[in-house]
Amino acid sequence: MRKGVCIAFWLLVLVANLLATDCRQVVVLHTTDLHGKFTDADSGQEFSWLRAATVIRQLRERYGDDQCLLVDTGDTTSGSLTSMLTKGEAAMTAILEMKVEAWIPGNHEFDYGVDQFKRLVKLAGNRAICGNLSVDGMEPMQPWRIFQKNGVKIAIIGATAAFTRHWLLGDEARQVQDVSAVIALRKILPQVLEAKPDLIVLAIHQGWFEVPDKRGVNEVSEIAWAFPEIDLILGGHSHRTIAGRRIGHRTWYVQPGCHGKYVGVVTAKLDVENHKLIEIGSRILEVDQTHQEDQALRAALGDVLARAETERNRVVVEALPKAISSYGRPGVGCATSELICRAIGRFTGADVVLHGRLSRKSLLAGPVTIGDLFELVPYENRIVTAEITLDDLQEIVAEQWRFKNHYSFSGIWGATLDVQKDGEWAKVVSLETMPLNLSRRIKLALNSHTAAGSGRFLKLREILDRPTSNTTILQTTTRDVLESFLRTDQSIWQPKTYYRTR
Ligand SMILES: [Zn+2]
Repeated sequence: MRKGVCIAFWLLVLVANLLATDCRQVVVLHTTDLHGKFTDADSGQEFSWLRAATVIRQLRERYGDDQCLLVDTGDTTSGSLTSMLTKGEAAMTAILEMKVEAWIPGNHEFDYGVDQFKRLVKLAGNRAICGNLSVDGMEPMQPWRIFQKNGVKIAIIGATAAFTRHWLLGDEARQVQDVSAVIALRKILPQVLEAKPDLIVLAIHQGWFEVPDKRGVNEVSEIAWAFPEIDLILGGHSHRTIAGRRIGHRTWYVQPGCHGKYVGVVTAKLDVENHKLIEIGSRILEVDQTHQEDQALRAALGDVLARAETERNRVVVEALPKAISSYGRPGVGCATSELICRAIGRFTGADVVLHGRLSRKSLLAGPVTIGDLFELVPYENRIVTAEITLDDLQEIVAEQWRFKNHYSFSGIWGATLDVQKDGEWAKVVSLETMPLNLSRRIKLALNSHTAAGSGRFLKLREILDRPTSNTTILQTTTRDVLESFLRTDQSIWQPKTYYRTR
């Protein structure tokens, strides 16, 4: 009996204490990897940025503007035909219209070149927050900012994927400097703590993974262990959908997929007197055909959506005589990757072309439009040529073969290879344009993304970086080359098998 009285007393003390603390709620709304998918036509699905905008407006109405903070963690500006028409600027119009308060640039913000990146960041103004990236001739972005919401002091730290040296080439790569987010946080976090925020949020264009990322692109797991002061991490880049979970010692993690399919909603209760997080949780709301497009955002985008529609329907080939299928492995009976190789080969006069499959899109018999070509080549890759030795080529194909089951694998065109089916080695045994024993250098063509290496194809990158390779980055994109090829060549051909299993 006495024990019961005692428990009741302490419960009363606890409740009294809770009532005495100034408990406030804030709601962090989160989008990521929108990739310029403004409409269903851009996403190819029944979700989009315009539909997600409706969900965001509803959430703001429900919780009140003063409680809500909208954050986007990058890869916002590129990835759709609509984006392409304005070189990413339509996305910045949307960022402003949607009143995104913190915007973290992703790696794809560089897709329209470093100069255009600078322009996009300028358009974002003080919304751009990033502490681990600097670009020559550009005012540095703020590494972190304080936001006041419902009497709560929220610190937002921004960071991107620090891997641009493996994603950009030549002069462009030299203009961009990035450091690992872990290193940047060691410097930034003490400053943030000094400002005594109630809630510390890291908004980062990197994802959380169960196992350590071998290349070191995604540092989220490491960050959560290294910096337990961070209350919340808003992630991106990997396109995963994580509704909310605890990572590291205590940090909450959210990642709402990509292309406007989900909106992340994080609710946090805080004791603002003691700058303490009392409770945090999150959910992701699925965007679907029941959410109408946001008309205010549509209006703000002006005529770009209509222009994108016209461009999407522009006919390249009146009647393709036979389907070109994406079935198979690049270099082994895959017709779409061979089509891209043929187009690049004809345009550059290269002896050997290295190219993979960028999507599962097939071209069907009948009319082919720009929209079809965009689906086939959804990136702004440019054409790169180099002059290499046979030994270089041997090393390049061997390195590629080690990634034969990876999406980034490039097949070959113009050379025949002997390969060990499940093993490591691949060897060029003949070239179509010249005998193997000729001392002339071999002209190789590929796309700029593969050429940059992504931190996977280190040997390829090393060979291309040698002055003797005479590596040249053309302004022409893969899609341009493909369009001009298809306009003039609609002959029927069978995809070849360039790899012979030994
Ligand atoms: Zn990314």
